[in-house]
Amino acid sequence: MPVIAYIGIGSNIGDAAANCRKAIELLSEAGRVVGVSSLYHTEPVGRHEQDDFINAVAVLETDRSPGELLNVCQAIEDRLGRKRGLRWGPRTADLDILLYGDLVSAQPELTIPHPQMALRKFVLAPLAEIAPDAMHPLLCRTASQLYRELKDPHTVIKCRQETKTP
Ligand code: ATP
Ligand code: CA
Ligand code: CA
Repeated sequence: MPVIAYIGIGSNIGDAAANCRKAIELLSEAGRVVGVSSLYHTEPVGRHEQDDFINAVAVLETDRSPGELLNVCQAIEDRLGRKRGLRWGPRTADLDILLYGDLVSAQPELTIPHPQMALRKFVLAPLAEIAPDAMHPLLCRTASQLYRELKDPHTVIKCRQETKTP
């Protein structure tokens, strides 16, 4: 049976919006992308001396195991030219598995739900937009509840929809 996974995507090097869109397109290698949030312009968290990010969340219906999905996410990061440097540092693409069905996994190399997701506005704003009822299996709160209760002062702004020229 396929599982619904939520993937948090971020970029702050080069054309960050294009990198996010490309990452979402490449995610179809791991299953069916059944939803994509708006793109969000966000203030960096953790290390301030870097450019702002573009963030989004994709909803993926997948038959891949969590470990296989992590491998696909890391392969997409590599294809988009990510250099592995500082944690929370600048990157062309970062793909984090936020939720994988109702799975709870505490391994350091794959912690699900993502340990920081409930504390981050740049994750919860797009997640609550695209999947307000998605349930955090440890906190037993939905994405929209977590977003409403969040106290994260960082700036997160939904990007204007691009209108196609006729
Ligand atoms: P953060 O995890 O706080 O968002 P980061 O995304 O900058 O930080 P990375 O350098 O991209 O961190 O990843 C470090 C390691 O985190 C990866 O090698 C991966 O094995 C591990 N990891 C643990 N849980 C997850 C998860 N749910 N999704 C993606 N990577 C994870
Ligand atoms: Ca991350
Ligand atoms: Ca990551």
